[in-house]
Amino acid sequence: MAVADSSVRKHSQDVDTAQRLWAEVLDQLSLQVNRQGFDTWLAPTRVRALRSDSLEVEVPNSFFAEWIGQHYLNDIRAALRNTAGKDLTVSFYPRDLADAAALQRQISLTRPVVSTEGRKLQIRYTFDNFIVGESTRLACAAARSVAESLGRTYNPLFIYGGVGLGKTHLIQAIGNQALRVHRSIRIHYTAAEALFLELIQAIEKNTRLEFKRRYRGLNLLLLDDIHYLIGKERLQEEIFHIFNHLHDAGSQIVFTSDRPPKDIPTLESRLISRLGSGLVVDIQPPELETRIAILKQKAGLDNRDLPDEVAYYIAARVRSNVRELEGCLIRLTALASLSDRPVTVELAEEAMRDLVATEVPIDKETIIETTADEFGVPTPDIKGGRRTKQLALARQVAMYLLRRKLNLSLKEIGFCFGGRDHTTVMHAIDKVERLKTEDVSFSARLKKLSAGISRG
Ligand code: ADP
Ligand code: MG
Repeated sequence: MAVADSSVRKHSQDVDTAQRLWAEVLDQLSLQVNRQGFDTWLAPTRVRALRSDSLEVEVPNSFFAEWIGQHYLNDIRAALRNTAGKDLTVSFYPRDLADAAALQRQISLTRPVVSTEGRKLQIRYTFDNFIVGESTRLACAAARSVAESLGRTYNPLFIYGGVGLGKTHLIQAIGNQALRVHRSIRIHYTAAEALFLELIQAIEKNTRLEFKRRYRGLNLLLLDDIHYLIGKERLQEEIFHIFNHLHDAGSQIVFTSDRPPKDIPTLESRLISRLGSGLVVDIQPPELETRIAILKQKAGLDNRDLPDEVAYYIAARVRSNVRELEGCLIRLTALASLSDRPVTVELAEEAMRDLVATEVPIDKETIIETTADEFGVPTPDIKGGRRTKQLALARQVAMYLLRRKLNLSLKEIGFCFGGRDHTTVMHAIDKVERLKTEDVSFSARLKKLSAGISRG
């Protein structure tokens, strides 16, 4: 036994030394490498083992290994020489490969409850595949902590942010990670819309009890896009009961939404007493460096090569929505393989011509001015306080477009119009959404206006 004990002790000492060494190296690198670069690429690394002449470092996925190797290897070697006092070889080990295999095994073992619509957790939506930038740091840290210790840190966790910024990715990453960490738990991911349909069916078929039971036995409920509940009192009621039950039982609940809880008034008033133990975090559009990293990593996941200058070209032009960023990449790689040409800036320019070459010239002013023109009102009036019917509608449309095209926060939008309150902005956006579905000619007009702005 003594032998085993001492070898265990020796092993943990080695791990300690390795961790201290790597922490020291990272400290040095953080002074040399620019902040965003450090946060994006180096901060997510972990040391795996230290041997007599080599160091093994774990990175989130193979693309990180490649990128760090190309851009930071010399800095790392120098910092290691400084710290360890000798030259060590460094090798990088992608975490995701081992994880994906383990996860796949576990998913088939634990059979997570899958919604009736057949929605599943996507294996790709993991924390390792989620590039963390300034604008997502807090949300991502909270999500991780929730996945690790279900029901014991932030409950509920409420994540909100604009379209295409990674809410679904994050909430599913929680599910994937929870499955990996905790054995045999019952989790359920669903979008509010699917839940709504499920409830309607349950009411029609008189199976509401089963519906409730299905949800009440969960350890983790992931409810995506709950802004869909606005105006659906019955569903809110039902969800609130499920929520209360789960919360009392110590089960974890995570919500996502395109707006903060206080902008979903009826839900908020009910959740409010419970939000005391919860956390509300937002995600904002990513910064340039993060956008480049996302592009390179998505290309890497598909085993495609994306030259730096091409990644930069795209990332500089698509700023407000990660889904669109991905869309450009898909279009570009499709064009490259269909026309059998290499991926170059020129090709990217061609691929993006109708899409976003366009996003560059769009700024707040362009949107406001173009909208004012379309409604035949002077720009200063649309920004000012006067209220005629025509002005009010033009203003609401401009607010809507600022939200959809630039993903500005409600507060920022209010600011463009003489400091209007964010609830005014929210009502404006909701009203335009409603008109769009109810009024065909309005919808056509909005489409034309929106396309005109995109062409810059
Ligand atoms: P939302 O639910 O907020 O509309 P999604 O989660 O569907 O957005 O994200 C849209 C796409 O962008 C997904 O393919 C997702 O993987 C990707 N994505 C968004 N943010 C990131 C990020 N920080 N790192 C990597 N991929 C991201
Ligand atoms: Mg989503």
